Amino acid sequence: MPEKLESALLRVEGLQAWYGESQALHGIGFEVPAGGVTTLLGRNGAGKSTTLKCIMGMARRAGSIVFDGRECIRSQPDEIARRGIAYCPEERGIFASLSVMENLLLPPVVRPGGMPVEAILELFPNLRSRMATQGTKLSGGEQQMLAIGRVLRTGARLLLLDEPTEGLAPVIVQQIGKAIGQLKAQGFTIVLVEQNFAFARQLADRHVVIEHGQVMDVLDGGLGPTEQARLEGYLRV
Ligand code: ATP
Repeated sequence: MPEKLESALLRVEGLQAWYGESQALHGIGFEVPAGGVTTLLGRNGAGKSTTLKCIMGMARRAGSIVFDGRECIRSQPDEIARRGIAYCPEERGIFASLSVMENLLLPPVVRPGGMPVEAILELFPNLRSRMATQGTKLSGGEQQMLAIGRVLRTGARLLLLDEPTEGLAPVIVQQIGKAIGQLKAQGFTIVLVEQNFAFARQLADRHVVIEHGQVMDVLDGGLGPTEQARLEGYLRV
């Protein structure tokens, strides 16, 4: 691995999670190197989204989640956000009755170093002409760009992105991929949940495969044909 990726910004160990009586995660463990893209791959229901929710403090959980050297397993979501983690849920969470600008300005800046609106628009130029448009009138791709852009204002440096390409046309997927690449180049650390392996492998420094609430495999760096076949094997239905 490149030298800059050696230190872990996030370390998850023995993570368990529950929805009511039902246990969804059974001891997940992985490390997220600072300044890189880590993908969580796996079939539907494997536990990828639940893992992100646990990191953000939004599911009942036990185990250890250390971010930037500090334990967060008992922290509330607002405290976790203030430490510098931001979460873009699969459903995007755009406020339908608010304009793009209002949606962008909604989350509080919780840490110094939040991205100015102008920089967000440079990252997602499609939003520039849509600033006064209501959330309901946006395409899926525009909503996704807004969802990512919105959390950049907070000052977070670890971004948790849940299936940002889901349901989007290939040209939009490409634009989102380019933006994620730019965020990585700017020093953000990203955890990406993806079903679209072709998309994930272009961006990722580390792939974590999750099955039945457990980590099955971890692969780093540029994948050779053998590693790629191994990963595709996990994802085959
Ligand atoms: P997907 O891509 O389908 O979202 P996933 O890998 O993200 O899959 P999770 O959404 O984390 O999987 O789900 C893990 C397990 O937890 C599944 O068995 C799922 O049915 C269950 N689960 C998820 N959300 C809830 C919930 N709100 N209430 C009860 N069970 C849930």
